[in-house]
Amino acid sequence: MRFVDEAIISVHAGKGGNGCVSFRREKFIPRGGPDGGDGGNGGSVIFRASVKLLSLYDFRVKRRYRAENGRPGEGGQRYGRKGNDYVLDLPVGTQIYEITPAGEQLFADLSEAGEEVIAARGGRGGKGNEHFKSSTHRAPRFAQPGEEGEERSFRLELKILADCGLLGLPNAGKSTFISAVSAARPKIAAYPFTTLSPNLGVMLEKGDYEKRMVIADIPGLIEGAAEGAGLGHRFLRHVERTRFLLHLLSVEDMNEDDPFAGFTLINNELALFDPTLAQRPQLQAISKIDLASPEFLETLRLRAAMENRTVFFFSSLTGEGLEELRAAMWLRMAELDRPEALVRFHEPFAEDAEEASCEEHDEEDALEDAPQVVWTRE
Ligand code: GDP
Ligand code: MG
Repeated sequence: MRFVDEAIISVHAGKGGNGCVSFRREKFIPRGGPDGGDGGNGGSVIFRASVKLLSLYDFRVKRRYRAENGRPGEGGQRYGRKGNDYVLDLPVGTQIYEITPAGEQLFADLSEAGEEVIAARGGRGGKGNEHFKSSTHRAPRFAQPGEEGEERSFRLELKILADCGLLGLPNAGKSTFISAVSAARPKIAAYPFTTLSPNLGVMLEKGDYEKRMVIADIPGLIEGAAEGAGLGHRFLRHVERTRFLLHLLSVEDMNEDDPFAGFTLINNELALFDPTLAQRPQLQAISKIDLASPEFLETLRLRAAMENRTVFFFSSLTGEGLEELRAAMWLRMAELDRPEALVRFHEPFAEDAEEASCEEHDEEDALEDAPQVVWTRE
């Protein structure tokens, strides 16, 4: 199996339209001068960073992108229309590497929404024969062809930064919580060395794409930790870079005597592996409260107040308490600075994805009605 968090695409800018060879023909003017217009420039392919895209999935399905060719010039000094640009929206944070025979090199780093970069420049339109008239050459029977558009290949790479790492025992309700609060679920494959796959969710604040929080549930964090350092450490590296942790404890895993002991237990285990991680800001929440009796919940709330413990209560199933928890998460996020380091996840490469053809423009068609030109001289 192959795991990559990238897509490889090729882009082709539009060819410039050919210049036109034409002569004025009017009644009573038997030998009019040259009046072939210029071809239009070919459209460019442009990369643009957009907040609305959350993964590179689309670029593994469709891999070739073409901008429109410029139209040829026409008689009567008419210019050909410029080909339309093709704007390719990429997720903010996409790093773009150009693939050249000499190797790969960083081409652009789209870090801000709306940022644009020209991926391939459209060819210039050719000059019409009216430009080639001179005192010695009154009737040029040639014009300039349009220039080819640039063609390039790129490797796109997206690093997803997890803002919030989920912590909790198996069955604490982490996956269900992510499903309940996420607007999007980027599909992430299993890590190459395990069968476990990180589970990501993107939560939006009041549906606003500009305000999003990536929540990562790293299965195996605790399970793995129990089995041996190797696995645990690998997963820990990924949660390490999150801004804060959300620690979930199911009501099923609580006892009356010391109800919040589960939090301490996991935190102690965490501290064994990585003391700094254990000290990372942490929100604590009790999940699956729909399974508890109102009396038990009341006891828990009182107990939390007594212990001076901030703890949220929620159920992903009924939605109770979810809003409060979400609000607290946004608040937490606003308080903390984004660490400079990034978390990388791996997405499966869609080997068998159908290579969709891009038929915005057909080269043959465009050339068909071009006037016969090209640098021929009598
Ligand atoms: P994870 O191992 O932490 O990811 O836990 P899951 O999200 O997979 O949940 C474990 C089990 O608890 C599943 O059977 C869920 O359907 C169930 N579950 C999760 N959240 C709730 C909840 O709020 N209420 C109830 N009653 N069951 C829940
Ligand atoms: Mg799970």
